[in-house]
Amino acid sequence: MRHASTYLPAAEIADSVRRGERAAVEVVEEHLATIAEREPEVHAFNALTDAQARMAAELIDRRVAAGEDPGPLAGVPVALKDNLCTAGVPTTCSSRILEGWLPPYDATVVTRLGLAGAIAIGKTNLDEFAMGSSTENSAFGPTHNPHDASRVPGGSSGGSAAAVAAGFAPLALGSDTGGSIRQPAALCGVVGVKPTYGRVSRYGLIAFASSLDQIGPLAPTVADAALLLEVVAGHDPLDSTSVPEPPPSLVAGLDDGVEGLRVGVVAELMGQGVAPDVRRRVEAAAEALAGAGAKVEETSVAALAYGLSAYYLIAPAEASSNLARYDGVRYGLRVDAPTTATMNVATRTAGFGPEVKRRIMLGTYALSAGYYDAYYGKAQKVRTLVIRDFAAAYESFDLLLSPTSPTTAFPLGAKAADPLSMYLSDVCTIPSNLAGDPAVSVPFGTGDDGLPVGVQILAPALAEATMLRAAAVLEDAMLDQAMARAEATP
Ligand code: GLN
Repeated sequence: MRHASTYLPAAEIADSVRRGERAAVEVVEEHLATIAEREPEVHAFNALTDAQARMAAELIDRRVAAGEDPGPLAGVPVALKDNLCTAGVPTTCSSRILEGWLPPYDATVVTRLGLAGAIAIGKTNLDEFAMGSSTENSAFGPTHNPHDASRVPGGSSGGSAAAVAAGFAPLALGSDTGGSIRQPAALCGVVGVKPTYGRVSRYGLIAFASSLDQIGPLAPTVADAALLLEVVAGHDPLDSTSVPEPPPSLVAGLDDGVEGLRVGVVAELMGQGVAPDVRRRVEAAAEALAGAGAKVEETSVAALAYGLSAYYLIAPAEASSNLARYDGVRYGLRVDAPTTATMNVATRTAGFGPEVKRRIMLGTYALSAGYYDAYYGKAQKVRTLVIRDFAAAYESFDLLLSPTSPTTAFPLGAKAADPLSMYLSDVCTIPSNLAGDPAVSVPFGTGDDGLPVGVQILAPALAEATMLRAAAVLEDAMLDQAMARAEATP
């Protein structure tokens, strides 16, 4: 497997650490040095766990010296979205309301990373409670796009995407409720995977919208994203929504190509609102897949046109319920007041930012007596149509193709005052969450502004292996072009 030359792949780092050729301590110091250099400009992290990372690296090196194998991610630094619980390490969701709260346990993904020899290097910035598409809704200030610091990194996993793009960590974990892994991956020029609902345990992921949330990898290359997904995926008795299937084998078949695969370009996700330069990159991706032997055709998945509207009822409805637990008693912040009820109000008023309050109000309204059927109930019916239309499309196609985000990275502040235009950033990614299906964003060149464009490959449930094979074909096509350009330049 080839790779983008500026990054040392996680797999290579792990191999050299396992063989004792490189010290994990050295790997960690190198990444901390890169962070020291550029973090003031990027602000990818809410907190670094540098002391713990150094200790973990020493332990890895001692185990290698003793002839043990620390695992497939030995010595590889990983950045963790700050809505993943880390025992004894602040986990804030970029919200004031969790101020001072220390999780009493690790998320299952964090435990699995540790068992694979990976080293948690820090907690990354996000839109508060993962609500947003630009990381500007963080209580701790925005993250900046490493390709252009005046632009957003996307969101809500903007810190994780920026950390990978800036070389702060070879790997990162994010969470994706409506696009929060894929859209920032697209805007930062990295690979981002939303796995099938239930593929990765969400035990210890702070809930936003429980029927949609999924954890997944961000990485510079498809192979590294696949490797990280293999490590964190698989059944977990601690998450009742986790699927019983064994963890998928993804890396082994990545080079198998797309010969004979049927790929549908989704008409509903190529129309109005998609910038022409982004659309051209998706068309180029369709050609690249056809050139590699896939049968590519345009297709229609009609109900996707209503996905965004359904999501903005279902996700806030679930959020309004999930966020009821932040009452000033059980977690973090408490603003004292004479009675329990006024203390609850004072705490939530001070602790939540404007977007979180907007979602709680939208969701409470959609669920309230008299409106439930018209809003929440109707949205659930649309969700069923989305599931049905996807299932029909997958009778004729193995995979679907679309843009990940309708535009490249927009300037900081450009959409902050207009929630609706911000919501539209996720029009292409939301349908996969409604259906519970996997999707990947893979970098495929740049837009007219020179900023990264991601194309999205969608697959039916549990078909991550096929989906990532196609992503690898697109990655190879870009490397071929880059090499041809390099040869043509004297
Ligand atoms: N941007 C979408 C929202 O604001 C999706 C967020 C996510 O996937 N966490 O809800």
